[in-house]
Amino acid sequence: MLSKDRVIIVGAGPVGCTAALILVQQGVPVVLVEREPELAEDLRGSTFHPPTLDMLDDLGVTEHLLPQGLIAPTYQYRDRATGAYAEFDLSVLKSHTRHPYRLQCEQYKLTRTVLPMLEASGLAEIRFSTQVTSIDQGRDSVTIAIDGPNGPEILDGRYLIGADGGPSMVRKAMGIEFEGFTYPERFLVVTTKFPFEDHLENLSYVNYISDAEEFCVILRVPGLWRVLFPTDPDEVEADVLEPARVEGLLQGLVATDTSYDKAHITLYRVHQRVAKSYRRGNVIIAGDAAHLNNPLGGMGMNGGLHDVFNLCPKLVDIMRNGASEDLLDLYQRQRRDITIEFIQNQTMQNKKNMEQTSEAERLQHIADLRTMLADPEQAVAFLRRNNMIDALERANAIT
Ligand SMILES: Cc1cc2nc3c(=O)[nH]c(=O)nc-3n(C[C@H](O)[C@H](O)[C@H](O)COP(=O)(O)OP(=O)(O)OC[C@H]3O[C@@H](n4cnc5c(N)ncnc54)[C@H](O)[C@@H]3O)c2cc1C
Repeated sequence: MLSKDRVIIVGAGPVGCTAALILVQQGVPVVLVEREPELAEDLRGSTFHPPTLDMLDDLGVTEHLLPQGLIAPTYQYRDRATGAYAEFDLSVLKSHTRHPYRLQCEQYKLTRTVLPMLEASGLAEIRFSTQVTSIDQGRDSVTIAIDGPNGPEILDGRYLIGADGGPSMVRKAMGIEFEGFTYPERFLVVTTKFPFEDHLENLSYVNYISDAEEFCVILRVPGLWRVLFPTDPDEVEADVLEPARVEGLLQGLVATDTSYDKAHITLYRVHQRVAKSYRRGNVIIAGDAAHLNNPLGGMGMNGGLHDVFNLCPKLVDIMRNGASEDLLDLYQRQRRDITIEFIQNQTMQNKKNMEQTSEAERLQHIADLRTMLADPEQAVAFLRRNNMIDALERANAIT
């Protein structure tokens, strides 16, 4: 096998691993380069949307994820002060998707499912503990310098996919601007075994909870609840993470006599950013390397997976069938435009709805949602938008 016939993928997160699997299943060899010594046990993403489950199903992955997660046929928008809520039932989408539900499953379960499939393919060379130090391009090839367990080496391939996350070395090496902004507040995520379902009536597995002062998200994953709170931008990290402060946030949600068990506490910076370009020659970026958004709606990883389900078949078409490289510009038009028009706008709107200060406006929003849900046509239209089905169809229609 000539190395120019393969694709180099930088980053073994959900997006890089999935890109690698799509390519090897089409007979295209890959080399997957990951800086860390093993796959991350990453708790960030935990919601898989219906169309993503359809796509992963085509790779034979969804059947392995389902038993590792929780099927969430409904999700809710709630008002924290009054308890009023609107509940969305995804089963109305059954003629629009093979998976009319969200799957609550931590993102590391995806990468851990995909890795053995890559190893079994015989077409994936996987390099852990390996940093990319430089990238050079020829007309039909990409050459990278790496530093790994065997010391410095040179690797080459026909294309390179940068799936190396928000701080992306690949994006920076290509000199691509990452336009947008960073929110002043960070998001604190606490994971606990505390049975919120016994204290907050009719909780779904996914609950977006609006409040004038402290909105939050309560999400179920197997055996645990994850609660996300915004934090005070003026507080230093040590104060935000101070145990009494974290306990106070949870007690504010449901007061108990004993202190909460806390399995994980993590503080995240949150951004709304989109790369100015998704391509420089034979180097293409995808996933968080190309776009970042707030997690209110669970669209970051899903959007990144949609990127590579769009990109990789185009790479196969070019490498196997001699299709024009214009397809790579089409990838950028389809995925970048839809990220700006849909994912960025939707997630920013979600945040605005959740932090609305006027109680009357918050309750009106919930009342409007309930009215809309009572009309089957409007409910389907809303759920298609909110669960990324429309975005995919619109992207595919861009020429
Ligand atoms: C609190 C929170 C909750 C979230 N919830 C959801 C959700 O429910 N649903 C959803 O869709 N999204 C969610 N997201 C977003 C989701 O976590 C990310 O969009 C997703 O991880 C992006 O995957 P990725 O593969 O592009 O990048 P990453 O997961 O960041 O993976 C990048 C990989 O590249 C490696 N790497 C980096 N630099 C190099 C280098 N130079 N050389 C080699 N390897 C390198 C890293 O080690 C890492 O393994 C959430 C995010 C947060 C913060």
